[in-house]
Amino acid sequence: MTLEKALLEAIKEAENTDKEPEAIKLLLMELSGYTPSEFYIKYKEQADPMLLNLFEEKYKDYLYKDIPIQHILGYSYFYGRKFIVDHNVLIPRRETEELVEQVLIYSDTYFEKLETIKAIDLGCGSGCITISLALEEPKMKIEGLDISSEAIEVAKRNNKALESNVDFKVSDLFKEAKGQYDILVSNPPYIPDLEKVDKIVDKEPHVALFGGEEGLDFYELILKNARPYLKEKALIAFEHGYQQKEAIRKIAEKYFSDAIIIQKEDLQGKDRFTFIGLGGV
Ligand code: GLN
Repeated sequence: MTLEKALLEAIKEAENTDKEPEAIKLLLMELSGYTPSEFYIKYKEQADPMLLNLFEEKYKDYLYKDIPIQHILGYSYFYGRKFIVDHNVLIPRRETEELVEQVLIYSDTYFEKLETIKAIDLGCGSGCITISLALEEPKMKIEGLDISSEAIEVAKRNNKALESNVDFKVSDLFKEAKGQYDILVSNPPYIPDLEKVDKIVDKEPHVALFGGEEGLDFYELILKNARPYLKEKALIAFEHGYQQKEAIRKIAEKYFSDAIIIQKEDLQGKDRFTFIGLGGV
């Protein structure tokens, strides 16, 4: 059997499901270990039976077990880099790249005079935000905290693989935070507890998805406790659900009546980000 035949058969099988044929091709390329050009050279040759068996097992998992393709591949791309992901971490989302981009713009604008920018990422998961910020802004000295020790293991593996210098720690919110920060960034779990999620999303860790009755618990907890951890001039940057804009503004005003609050849409036009600036930020 050739790779071509195996791939065509799998794609045909996918047509009877709601899954993406493109993901199956990616899966075979990844499992083969070939570069794209090698792949097309080997495409019509007899393939290694071990590879074919592995491919069959994995694509069936994808087609019939509702496992996210990123979990099967073991990685996902974020801000141009490859991050290890597994069932213990949230799969990095496209819109979260925009949060990173915004924080980089803020740090260029308001913190550029600092020698080091001290930052913290609460609920860092895979470390996608944390590591991207650390690598994009060398002045950023950032810590990543998460309550899940399994997630922190994944974040540490990413830190090593991508040669970044983030300090990752298991911590219930601020518990392990030390000192005061210029920037606090967080994409906490924000889905309301009883909301029904897509069956594939449901395979992601619930601790990373659900944020209390209205999905707002972590914003409340973070903002209620943040003040002592922030410098006088500081930025809080949140991602949130697109229906949570008003509620988050209210929580922000409750604890930071002295702040400038700016809310932004993502590229899809959805209300997705809230920035809270203190001391002139
Ligand atoms: N900060 C990580 C991300 O944005 C994890 C978020 C989470 O687990 N809720 O992907």
